[in-house]
This record gives sequence, structure tokens and C-alpha cells, in this order.
Amino acid sequence: MPYNPADLHVWSLPLRTRFRGLTVRDGLLVRGAAGWAEFSPFWDYDAAESATWWRAAREAADTGWPAPVRTRVPVNVTVPAVDAEAAHRIVRESGGCRTAKVKVAEPGQSLGDEIARLEAVRDALGPGGAIRVDANAAWDVDTAVTRLVALDRAAGGLEYAEQPVPGVDGLATLRRRTHVPIAADESIRRADDPLAVARAHAADVVVLKVQPLGGVRACLELAERIGLPVVVSSALESSVGLAAGIALAAALPELPYACGLATAQLLHHDLVAHPFRPVDGALDVRRPDPDPDLLAAAAAPDDLRARWVARLADVEARA
Ligand SMILES: [Mg+2]
Repeated sequence: MPYNPADLHVWSLPLRTRFRGLTVRDGLLVRGAAGWAEFSPFWDYDAAESATWWRAAREAADTGWPAPVRTRVPVNVTVPAVDAEAAHRIVRESGGCRTAKVKVAEPGQSLGDEIARLEAVRDALGPGGAIRVDANAAWDVDTAVTRLVALDRAAGGLEYAEQPVPGVDGLATLRRRTHVPIAADESIRRADDPLAVARAHAADVVVLKVQPLGGVRACLELAERIGLPVVVSSALESSVGLAAGIALAAALPELPYACGLATAQLLHHDLVAHPFRPVDGALDVRRPDPDPDLLAAAAAPDDLRARWVARLADVEARA
């Protein structure tokens, strides 16, 4: 263990809206020679899968990140699977975001719910904004083909659909059957071979996330090898963890799309005094330290802390 257990800060933060089935986000912070780092794999990631998340944290703590080539990163507002009224408000209060990512395929919701949500988002964004949807691999290909026709119409045009179906083959098949551009997310970050998407011509855009892919440098190398436009997204980190995604977005040679890094708004509280909030639709490139009082206020209860310490020991044993 390279870090003293006393220096592991395990935190737990409530979410404003249920997201990815979660109402609370938890993780740990460590501090190394290069600065503070976040390690926060979701609990459905086992020790083997969590190892890349830990590599990302070690890079942040021990090495730091490559130099930025830009000072601001355009970001999208994320609209969870909420009703139309809430969706409208979230976009209006997004800090000037000109792109919205709208969650769809939520269990228990209908196509009508999704259409109402997208129409509300278009109304709030105006005709010049861009709308993308994220189905988190929930549809089969036939469902996706049909749904995307309806959602594209409701949105007044979709920028792209993120991981509408599972698997590289599914994405490739769907891409031949829809005019809506396809973005690969789960097929990159939870795949044995993240290059398969490019080989199969299965996507127009790839979503890269720093923690699941093992760090900023690992993502930069992957982006170069994939050769498709990249959207950097968060894994719903605190602002300490978001800084790594912002460092990646800031270091990419090309950044043609708004990034999914404006997710601090989904948390009720944060660990830094000035969380990453968009201004004029973009985030400043910076690396905030946690605020000691906020870190103390977010401290996890003993049992959760014990689970994280054990989890990290498990991951390290495999490193
Ligand atoms: Mg996604």
C-alpha cells in the first residue's frame, strides 16, 4: 500500500436525482506528490475491472497530467430520466450549455415520456443547440432503429445516439440502419479490446472516461489509435476526479464536441470550494484541491469506509 490508510479520505455524497440507479455517490481521495486523486469505481465493478480506475488515480497522485492545449472545455448539460418540466429547468439552469445529453431507455418509462423530455429540452435549448441521447446499451437493434426515428424527430435532430445497443457488432449493425450518428461508450470502456469499435466501423464518435480507461495518458494514446472524434465524459466524480477528465479534454489535439464533464451539478455537495460549474457552456481548465471542511462533512460512515479500504487493498493485491 503506497498510501498511509490515515491519508485515505472516503467520502459519500448524495445525488440530486437518481442516476445510473444511484442516489449516493461514494469513493476515496488520496494525495500524492503530484496532487490529490480520486478513486471511485462503481460498486458493480470488481477488483479486476477497478484496477484501471486505480491506475488513473495513481497517475493523478504520483505523476500529474500532460500540458493542456486549451484553457476552456465546452460541456454538455446532462438531463437524467426526469419529466419534461424538470428537463426544461435543468437545461435553463445549465450555465449556458449549448449541448444537452438526455438519458433515455429508463426502465418503467415509455416512448411518450422520452418524446416529452426531448421536446422540452429542444424548447429550452433553442434551435441552435445540439441534443444527444444516451440509452446505456438498453435497446436491441430493431428497437433502436424505431426509437431513433421517433426521438430524432422529437429532438428536431439528434447530434448522436450514445451506445443505443450493447456490443460492437450491435453498434455496427445499427449504424448501417440509421442516419443518426452513433457514439460508443460502454463498448470502449468495458470492452476487452477498445479498438474493436474502430475496426468494425461501429461508431462515429467515441466516449472516453479517464478512470475506467486507466488515466489521462492511456486515454490520449487510445484516442490516437482509434482515430475517431472523442467526447470526454465523467464517471460522476467529485470535482477532484472531474479535474482528470478536464485535463484529458484540455490535452486532446482536437475537441469537436462538447464533453460530458458538467456532472458536478448532479451532486448535492462537492469536495472542493469551487466545484466545476459551466460558465457560457464551458469549464475552466484547473485542478482544485479538496476543501478540508467539505471533505470532513462528506466523510463516509465507518462501515462504508471499511469497505473502501478493503476494496483498495483487493485492487492493489492484483496490481
Ligand atoms: Mg454513456
